[in-house]
Amino acid sequence: MYSVKIKDIEKEEGKTLKQHFSFEIKELSAKVDSSLTFKSLGDFIEVTGHVNGEIDVECDVCLTPYKEKLDFDIDETYAKTTLFGEYGNEVELRNGEFVTDLNGADEIDVYDLLYQSVILSLPNKKVCGINCNEGLFVTDEEYQPEDERLEIFKNIEIKDN
Ligand SMILES: [Zn+2]
Repeated sequence: MYSVKIKDIEKEEGKTLKQHFSFEIKELSAKVDSSLTFKSLGDFIEVTGHVNGEIDVECDVCLTPYKEKLDFDIDETYAKTTLFGEYGNEVELRNGEFVTDLNGADEIDVYDLLYQSVILSLPNKKVCGINCNEGLFVTDEEYQPEDERLEIFKNIEIKDN
């Protein structure tokens, strides 16, 4: 539903398509509002842009539900054809630059892109605010990521902003 077909990118002037996406990511209780630019570079599709929004989270310290603001950039590169087969779905091209393999798919899954980007954008330790009541302290040992999909990011280098 929230995707962009590669052929629609390539028929645009300069093979560049700009599109706005605004939707809810139900699995994360997040609302995102994003302006994305899709650019075809031959074998690769580059997606850049910015995301604003908010996500319902729980404070790791006092367990109070609160809304965390989302405000981050998107910079992703996809490979149109399966280049990396045996290396898995994501491979480092240059230092700190990763490429996601589309495995021959004819479209970019924007929902999945924003889902994963929102997870990556969240701080390791979420704190509701400077007035947080630290009555219920959660130690790092007790702290577990809420989403097991985070596991796949453990070995991936995250670029400094
Ligand atoms: Zn708190």
